[in-house]
Amino acid sequence: MAYVISDECIACGACIDECPVDAISEGDIYSIDPELCTDCGSCVEVCPTEAISPE
Ligand code: SF4
Ligand code: SF4
Repeated sequence: MAYVISDECIACGACIDECPVDAISEGDIYSIDPELCTDCGSCVEVCPTEAISPE
């Protein structure tokens, strides 16, 4: 399992510094590498648009 970023993402960048395993990549919509994500949930709390959720 891994967290995923939906098209609600506004590319604010808040989540990327929260990830302890650098699983989040920048883009028009940010993305999470499911191979790296440990489901810690740290990124979810900082997202202003609630774009991040467990898949
Ligand atoms: Fe990184 Fe944790 Fe978010 Fe997964 S849930 S992308 S490990 S901060
Ligand atoms: Fe996108 Fe939310 Fe991450 Fe901001 S915190 S870049 S809106 S997923």
